[in-house]
Amino acid sequence: MSRAATSESMTPIRYEPFWWDGVARTTIPELALPREIDVAVVGAGYTGLSTALTLARAGRSVVVFEAEEPGTGASSRNQGQIGAVFKRSFSEATATYGREKAVAIYREGRIAVEFLKSFIEREQIACSFVRSGRFVAAYRPEHYEALAHELEILKREIGFNADMVPKAEQAREIGSPGYFGGQVRHDDATLHSAQYHVGLLDRVRASGAGIAGFTPVTALVRDGAGFIVRTKRGEVRARNVMLATNGQTGPFAPWFRRRVIPMGAYGIATAKLAPEIVRRVLPTGRVVHDTRKLIHGIRLSPDKTRLIFGGRASMTEADPRATAPRLYTMMVETFPDLAGVDITHSWMGYIAFTFSRLPHTGVHDGIHFAMGYCGSGIALATYLGHKSALKILGEADSGTPFDDLPFETRPFYTGTPWFAPPALAYYHFKDNWPKPRAA
Ligand SMILES: Cc1cc2nc3c(=O)[nH]c(=O)nc-3n(C[C@H](O)[C@H](O)[C@H](O)COP(=O)(O)OP(=O)(O)OC[C@H]3O[C@@H](n4cnc5c(N)ncnc54)[C@H](O)[C@@H]3O)c2cc1C
Repeated sequence: MSRAATSESMTPIRYEPFWWDGVARTTIPELALPREIDVAVVGAGYTGLSTALTLARAGRSVVVFEAEEPGTGASSRNQGQIGAVFKRSFSEATATYGREKAVAIYREGRIAVEFLKSFIEREQIACSFVRSGRFVAAYRPEHYEALAHELEILKREIGFNADMVPKAEQAREIGSPGYFGGQVRHDDATLHSAQYHVGLLDRVRASGAGIAGFTPVTALVRDGAGFIVRTKRGEVRARNVMLATNGQTGPFAPWFRRRVIPMGAYGIATAKLAPEIVRRVLPTGRVVHDTRKLIHGIRLSPDKTRLIFGGRASMTEADPRATAPRLYTMMVETFPDLAGVDITHSWMGYIAFTFSRLPHTGVHDGIHFAMGYCGSGIALATYLGHKSALKILGEADSGTPFDDLPFETRPFYTGTPWFAPPALAYYHFKDNWPKPRAA
């Protein structure tokens, strides 16, 4: 096992997100639950907070119910890579839903990114938002060809702002021998996930919405035109309910639980690196993801001194002690220059995949929802949370192309992804066999 993941390590590893360092959580006093409200929002991540903000500013009485301390879910654990990275390619979406729908979905992704940027500017949320761009690194020569082919179509159909970078010029983007060129997406961006969450939470509190932390919802029961929201701390009557639980959707919402696939996502942060290593590893400071089935996500810390490395180190493991050495090995395989560096943090969180590999939003059985971002939810959660609020308000411009996508499940799937370990093994095999010839 690597030095960095053993007791020989110079720096003790903290088993919580790098993003929580130095970010003061807002202390929220316990909320006395009201008897009746307009809207109950379940989940205090980006989706739920965005919904709550729009509703409260429109004069609705709102409570956000959160099972844990607000700010401990995926929304403060993520890498902060902003884009609309759909796991269903444009060509696949065209084949399934038709060209018009595929164009609408991909356009909406770009709209969500621009919405997030304007929102952060308008609200003056200090969260290190930078229009960094993204480098999509091709793990195999045929992946480079596929990226180039898809880009031609996306430029024609939605004016996608990206360019291919051949292998011969790749060193200007990434100091890794393991890739075969890639694609620069100019409009993508980056932020500090926990700072953004705290900023959003503060705006929601200032808007007058109630935040009920440590208040898990245990049941949503229809009651005439509204709902009884049962929680571990009592019941509240709400005219509308918004479900914003994404990868942590529990048994209290069985229809939804059968439609999202919770998966662990993992990250490590290195200790501060020498400036010349930073310049060699990620010279432009763009965020990076690669084209493996088990994707690697890579970026620099906002102060550009550390590398943050993420990957699918497991499908089932919840202990970041176990995944730290695996991620370390993956990082050094990608960047041999980093052999021997210390890591300071290792953490994980839950994302939500869907069977369509696209996000879903809409209303089911009277319950509004937005979820299933498939690991790329910062922009879409903020945007679709806002759109859900507009639906609750009955506004005309509340529609999105994700509203009417069939939200599929599978026979015998009840919310525990028993198929995940064999799927991981299969994807691991697909990524590694045959080994890409030396790049
Ligand atoms: C390690 C990691 C890296 C990631 N990297 C990126 C990235 O670089 N770019 C990107 O765009 N996305 C990334 N993501 C995904 C992104 O973080 C999510 O898509 C986004 O945060 C989803 O927001 P959300 O509000 O829908 O869900 P969450 O932030 O997960 O919030 C859901 C909340 O619901 C609460 N909840 C669940 N059940 C109940 C209940 N019964 N009662 C009350 N509350 C409940 C949970 O406690 C949780 O706080 C990453 C995620 C992880 C974990």
